[in-house]
Amino acid sequence: MDTSKPSIARVYDFFLGGKDNFAIDREIGEATLKIAPDAPAAGRSNRAFLRRVVRHLAAEAGIRQFLDIGSGLPTQGNVHQVAQAAAPDSRVVYVDNDPIVLVHGRALLATNGSTTVIEADVRDPESILNHPAVNDLIDFTQPVALLLFAILHHVNDHEDPHAIAARFREALPSGSYMALSHFHNPGPSMPEVSAQATTAEKLFNENLGTGRWRNRDEILAYFGDMELLEPGVVPLAEWRPDPGEPVDRGITYHTFVGGLARKP
Ligand code: SAM
Repeated sequence: MDTSKPSIARVYDFFLGGKDNFAIDREIGEATLKIAPDAPAAGRSNRAFLRRVVRHLAAEAGIRQFLDIGSGLPTQGNVHQVAQAAAPDSRVVYVDNDPIVLVHGRALLATNGSTTVIEADVRDPESILNHPAVNDLIDFTQPVALLLFAILHHVNDHEDPHAIAARFREALPSGSYMALSHFHNPGPSMPEVSAQATTAEKLFNENLGTGRWRNRDEILAYFGDMELLEPGVVPLAEWRPDPGEPVDRGITYHTFVGGLARKP
């Protein structure tokens, strides 16, 4: 593990108030806070969105298989905990390309036979779809929930994130779901927000090598011909909020959006 370079998983852990980050990660975190002081709220909002989506899938949509790509370091309310609280027979495969996620993930999940974590790269869908551990736990003849929370914005344009999403969509049987959250640049209609997104994009690319705040059409395109559930692709806090759930409408409210869609 290289602790001289910041890692996406550890910088995100810093924003979530976790302890699995190093000085170099905190430096990038602090620099981001200067541009976007409400970045921690964005991280929390993303985790709350993830929990509401997974709970809906397990409790209401009858999904029992979850493929969580770019799963990140274990935190509060991990996918298997949320899904298995609603449906104890849920099976979850976590996928991440950062070795630190594997180390911490394996420690957390060692005792759970219906959950596993593998090291693989979203940019190589075949390596995930054909992975023995994935095929042990996920039956691709039955509906699957593909979770792409806060990962496709770490795939650069030249790596074609839309082709990657299309390959995963194609592998899903009818009745499956795809959920994603993504950095968003609203463009000239919101100049202040757009300017912050552009500055943050530059900081991320210079320090982490990735980070794209895409526009609405680019984000909608990930879903292809899947059917978006209401309310569509929206600021994370607007996706079926729990009653009384606090909503922070700072700038990052507009620069982080998500949605859930079903394959007909
Ligand atoms: N999905 C979690 C969430 O939304 O709370 C964690 C998101 S975190 C911002 C992004 C995660 O994606 C990190 O753990 C990072 O290591 C992982 N990641 C980035 N690029 C990746 C890639 N090419 N393949 C697999 N994982 C990747």
